[in-house]
Amino acid sequence: MAPPKTYRCEAIILGYSPLGEADLLVTMYAREQGKIRAVGKGARRSTSKLVGHLEPLTVVRMSMVNGRSMDIISQAEVVESFAALKEDLTAISKGLYLSELVDGFGSEDIANPPLFQLMIQTLRAVQADSASDMPLRAFEFHLLQVSGLMPELYHCVECRQELEPNAHRFSPNVGGTLCLECNPDDAHLRPLSLRALKVLRLFDRSSIAEACKLSIDDGLADELKSLLSTTVGYWLGKEIRSNSFLERLHKESLPEVYI
Ligand SMILES: [Zn+2]
Repeated sequence: MAPPKTYRCEAIILGYSPLGEADLLVTMYAREQGKIRAVGKGARRSTSKLVGHLEPLTVVRMSMVNGRSMDIISQAEVVESFAALKEDLTAISKGLYLSELVDGFGSEDIANPPLFQLMIQTLRAVQADSASDMPLRAFEFHLLQVSGLMPELYHCVECRQELEPNAHRFSPNVGGTLCLECNPDDAHLRPLSLRALKVLRLFDRSSIAEACKLSIDDGLADELKSLLSTTVGYWLGKEIRSNSFLERLHKESLPEVYI
């Protein structure tokens, strides 16, 4: 019988759950392999050499063995631990939000190195400034981009007319921005201010780190958050669980007078 096939991968741990008596079922997103669900044999035993290497939001280099139904993690070495991020509850919550989206948008057996890179760059931005929501907004935008779902921002998706610098409308399900004249039947239309359109276009030509330098007022931040999370949620086809936790955390951090 041929020996089992082995391979190496670099992946970010998205989450895990207990399996059997001492194993872990680990979900990760690998640079060259896409989403992988693999077993960490004995990883819950304190003596395991995998202990501390499979924590969510850790970048790990691994040796894997092809298993019959699932691959097995034979070795793991931490590449980037995001230790400072993990000491900050707000930053952890934001990291888990990213994990949930990468888990939802990532496919097994389909490599998407830009998605892997996007998650790492966004985690670095969250770690650098956990109070800012800009990393999450830029992430949501680029997530659509690297998933082939980039919204149209320069022409009306219906009549293809170039958009004048004006207020427009946006529809997640028909692919982006619409002029004020077009009104397709099936579009979930929402208003789009000129300021929000400008920020989306800035996201389009900026890296995550560059986008995070932008400072915007609360009204614009709310508009972008609503627009992008609705669009991401539409394509994901389900509610984003960690979003409600982030909302709660945000409310708890506000002085009581605002609640
Ligand atoms: Zn139009």
